[in-house]
Amino acid sequence: MTKNPQKEQHFVGLGVAVGIAIGPAYVRQSGAVDVRERKIAKKAVEAEKKRLDVAVRLARRQIRRLQTRTTAKSGANGEELTFLLDAYLRMLQDSRLVRGAEQRIVDFQINAEAAVKAEIAAIAAVFHAMDDSYIAARIDDIREVGNRLLRNLTKTPVKPFSAVPEGSIIVAEQLTPADTAQLDPTLVAGAAVVGGSAEGHTAIMARALGLPTVLGVAGLTGDVRTGDTIIVDGTAGRVVVNPTQSTIAAFERRRTEHLKQTRLLERLRNLPAVTRDGTEVVLQANVELPIEMAMVTHAGATGIGLLRSEFLFMNREDVPSEDEQVEQLRSVISVMGKRPVTVRTLDVGAEKPVAALLSGIDADAVSNLGLRGIRLSLVQPDILETQFRAILRAANTGNVRILLPMISAVAEVRQARDILKKAAAKLTRRGITVPNPLPALGVMIEVPGAALAADALAQHSDFFSIGSNDLTMYTLAIDRGNEHVAHLFNPLHPGLLRLLQFTADAALRARIPIAICGEMAGDPRYTALLLGLGIRELSMTPSSIPLVKQRIREMDMAAANHRAGVIMDQVDSGRIAMLLDDFNALA
Ligand code: PEP
Ligand code: MG
Repeated sequence: MTKNPQKEQHFVGLGVAVGIAIGPAYVRQSGAVDVRERKIAKKAVEAEKKRLDVAVRLARRQIRRLQTRTTAKSGANGEELTFLLDAYLRMLQDSRLVRGAEQRIVDFQINAEAAVKAEIAAIAAVFHAMDDSYIAARIDDIREVGNRLLRNLTKTPVKPFSAVPEGSIIVAEQLTPADTAQLDPTLVAGAAVVGGSAEGHTAIMARALGLPTVLGVAGLTGDVRTGDTIIVDGTAGRVVVNPTQSTIAAFERRRTEHLKQTRLLERLRNLPAVTRDGTEVVLQANVELPIEMAMVTHAGATGIGLLRSEFLFMNREDVPSEDEQVEQLRSVISVMGKRPVTVRTLDVGAEKPVAALLSGIDADAVSNLGLRGIRLSLVQPDILETQFRAILRAANTGNVRILLPMISAVAEVRQARDILKKAAAKLTRRGITVPNPLPALGVMIEVPGAALAADALAQHSDFFSIGSNDLTMYTLAIDRGNEHVAHLFNPLHPGLLRLLQFTADAALRARIPIAICGEMAGDPRYTALLLGLGIRELSMTPSSIPLVKQRIREMDMAAANHRAGVIMDQVDSGRIAMLLDDFNALA
């Protein structure tokens, strides 16, 4: 049955970044590379053919390298991959794809990437017409090889979606955190994606960029075409495809209301975050990219509680040099003046791969339970040492703290501290001043074992920051980026709350500062409970600061302490949620 393309259709997903966007859909085929067609002069044709040839040779080398790695894999999977890569290599010999693209450069005088893209489309059309499911499936292989050529030609990492019409709403099966980091909020209005969940890094990045986004929208892509009008309601988690005029009008009214509320909250920017009975709370910002700094100041953050430095290493093929890292860090630190900036060392792995750091490392090796975060840094100590040197140099002009991700043992903190001291000594030998004393070195508490060993870790750390996203994931065995288990991700699980309480108590006993920088910190629903557990520093996506501040300013600390005590006596997360929501409704 063919669907009526104009029929209004509603979808439900997880609203992960608030706001309403209405605009034309831009459906992204997985793995596709954005390309613009460019006319070239007749005399440039030979040079363009040469560019294509260079890209083809590079692709062959890349595939041969992949082959060397896969032949090491034994078993049926290894064999199948070897066959597939052989087929890819043949497509890069004297194939229709390569010859056809070359001919298009000559016939139409267009750039090589546009020629490759057009040739892929032409081959796909022929295969489609054959009406043979085996042949139809081969088109995916052609696309794969073609996209590799496009990436080589455009020297990808190309900015994905840089060719989308202004105001577009991205529709995709999957959107990686690295892709999301490259979205230009002046071009893209929002996103609706089949995969993903609220605590994954794609969601975190969408919030950071202020893009209304709904993730986990089952069945979406089959029903949307590029150019269809689409509404994304990132607050309610709703997506409407081909809305009627009256639906558009209703969502526009809600959008106006949302903007009005946001503006009202902006009035809190310069007011202190203090409870009615005088308890002061520190509200800081989580930052991934320097472009967020305008938002950080606008939101009234009193510091940066988490700079996720790994995003500065993404979407490029090389590792940034020490000087380049210093420059990037200074661009953040200089905005903050004397206000604290907590730079976290690289948390690479799992959802956050960084190509240059992972070459030669199997994807399985850097899974969520693998060489992620500090574990990868400790097997690449030169990279960690360079990062420390960059942080120390940048710290000369600001108030910097250093935070280590994915710590699970005291030995890791000791090793990292030794590397930090080595980095400082090297700079001193070079005649560069380093802060004296060295910046505070803290650890993320985001592995259950670390929370349970918080007393021991506190003896070796200058401060703690709770990463409730990963702490929830590892405690409840729920992949934070997986839409199929997103409904089970529950920060009010009594097991998780006990780990928070134990960590906070350990920090208070050892008299070291404790903060929380997971997504819980930015949700006003949890504020009373976190304060009631003794945490006084919350770090969050900048746009959440006014909401949390509002919650703090209307709250009575003594009552929150009492309610947190009652909650911590409970064993059922449903009852905990009820006790918390009742308290929030009262105060
Ligand atoms: C966390 O795990 O809660 C955290 C803040 O770190 P990230 O989200 O970058 O893993
Ligand atoms: Mg984490």
